[in-house]
Amino acid sequence: MRILVVGRGGREHAIVWALRKSEKVKHIICAPGNAGIAQLAECVDIAESQFEELAQYAVDQAIDLVVIGPDDPLADGIVDVFEAKQIPVFGPRKNAAIIEGSKTFMKDLLRKYNIPTAAYEKFDNYEDALAYLRQQSAPIVIKADGLAAGKGVTVAQTMEEAEQALQEIMVSKVFGSAGSQVVIEEFMAGQEMSILAFVDGETVRPMSPAQDHKPVFDGDKGPNTGGMGTYSPLPHIPQSIIDEAIETIVVPTAKAMVAEGRPFRGVLFAGLMITPDGKPKTVEFNARFGDPETQVVLPRLKTDLVDIFLAAVNGTLHELEIEWSDEAAVCVIVASGGYPASYPKGLPISGLDEVQEAIVFHAGTALNGEGQVVTNGGRVLGIVGLGATIAEARAKAYADAERIHFEGKQNRTDIANKALV
Ligand code: ATP
Repeated sequence: MRILVVGRGGREHAIVWALRKSEKVKHIICAPGNAGIAQLAECVDIAESQFEELAQYAVDQAIDLVVIGPDDPLADGIVDVFEAKQIPVFGPRKNAAIIEGSKTFMKDLLRKYNIPTAAYEKFDNYEDALAYLRQQSAPIVIKADGLAAGKGVTVAQTMEEAEQALQEIMVSKVFGSAGSQVVIEEFMAGQEMSILAFVDGETVRPMSPAQDHKPVFDGDKGPNTGGMGTYSPLPHIPQSIIDEAIETIVVPTAKAMVAEGRPFRGVLFAGLMITPDGKPKTVEFNARFGDPETQVVLPRLKTDLVDIFLAAVNGTLHELEIEWSDEAAVCVIVASGGYPASYPKGLPISGLDEVQEAIVFHAGTALNGEGQVVTNGGRVLGIVGLGATIAEARAKAYADAERIHFEGKQNRTDIANKALV
């Protein structure tokens, strides 16, 4: 088979890496890819936003299957463009990707179908939103409706902070049209967990759960990032809670999307809070693989990923049993100095060939004119250790993360600590 993967991050490197293990795969092309992906696939310089160019390229190259990595093209309808050209494509159509692209859509869906989530109200004008907010108390959560690269959410500890967030979203319009509606949501205390699932409409095949670390610094300090590290499985979370989350949240949401005439095909990613009473509640839904959750989940997959993608596309997931290894995986993100604010690019990376046991997934990397791997983004590399236990996987990831150097390099030193107690 000839497969086209769309995207350029660590997530897409992990997808390409897992596809490479399949005997069914003859050739993989990645658009646009990065320096690490280029070692496993042919990279072609077409951006994720160039839907027509990508679809035409897929026709010209006789591509058998397309896999879409990132959220923005899915929300903008890239899958519909490939489908119009009869090209098999793994990912939700625009009318289903809206579950990530609009928080008001997602919250209204969950309310309609009685799926556990935080209480909320939505507003499309500032005055009403402010009047409602002033009747509430902190902590409280303010969310811009649309995609805002993870920055449109404020967990406000004070009412001043909440009012400021509302003002920025609806008056200053710092997120543009993503902030034309706002969700004001009850604060949920607890521990977060991500459950990703392969979905073909009705059938839901959950992946092994993972936990991310969003803030940039140790101890969950500092501003939020795209994710500074992950681990899977979650030995400290009882299986009964994971099962409850699948039964009361993930499966009913897939069914609700079918009932709404928006069948979801692709990876449905539930961001969940395990509240202090032990009940899982929905924080958010994403319509694609998580980054960096994918980097710890796919290396534990035993089933051929091509078979899963094809079953999801063809609506035959119910015929497929998906197997996971018992191994643990820990991913440590190595990031540019300054990230998540501004950071330099083009810095030479050394030590990649000294890595011993970890898998190195490239995120923001490129090759410079001399063929040297250089930094090219905020999150640069994901270093993934595998082992019999989280402790062993974690030790391998950190040992190899230390072998890698570039100016200003930063990484958290406490990834997966919660799972060690
Ligand atoms: P991302 O793109 O980073 O996944 P997002 O913009 O889709 O984020 P959410 O996932 O809804 O936004 O929220 C971001 C983070 O804010 C969550 O991971 C969680 O830590 C926190 N958060 C969101 N809603 C709540 C809530 N109701 N109570 C407590 N914390 C919350």
